[in-house]
Amino acid sequence: MKKIAKLLTLVFGLTMILMLSACGTSNEPCVYCEKTPTKSYKTATGDTTYICKEHRSTCFFCNKKATKHYTSGLGLEIFTCKDCYKEATK
Ligand SMILES: [Zn+2]
Ligand SMILES: [Zn+2]
Repeated sequence: MKKIAKLLTLVFGLTMILMLSACGTSNEPCVYCEKTPTKSYKTATGDTTYICKEHRSTCFFCNKKATKHYTSGLGLEIFTCKDCYKEATK
């Protein structure tokens, strides 16, 4: 009995570690380049979209560092720098 309890603790511990390491990231392909891992975002239309690190950190328009994002008319989450965000959302 003791052995089983120990085994269960081990399995439980491993599951926790796996869950924690998966937190915030996903294996769904990026909507732009289909790379993984990605991070999930909720769009303004209520859909879930997945974006890789590269595409969530570079501006969609000018390739500068992206600091903001918004949902486009097509329901696609667009990542932009501060300046392009102002232009795109005005
Ligand atoms: Zn990507
Ligand atoms: Zn930009």
